[in-house]
Amino acid sequence: MAGAISDELRSALREVAGDTCEYCRLPQSMTLHKHEPDHIIAVQHGGETELQNLALACMRCNRH
Ligand SMILES: [Zn+2]
Repeated sequence: MAGAISDELRSALREVAGDTCEYCRLPQSMTLHKHEPDHIIAVQHGGETELQNLALACMRCNRH
């Protein structure tokens, strides 16, 4: 499935991001909602599902 993010990629991203939202710097420990990987360049715009094109985002940032 295009755009699916593997568990390996998710945990690598969490490590790189320091478990912090990469947009507003909200730490994972400050929210009950799980931070989710966000495509920097959307898949429908040709973005790849790889570490370089993913940012860890809190629920609030992810909705934008
Ligand atoms: Zn955020």
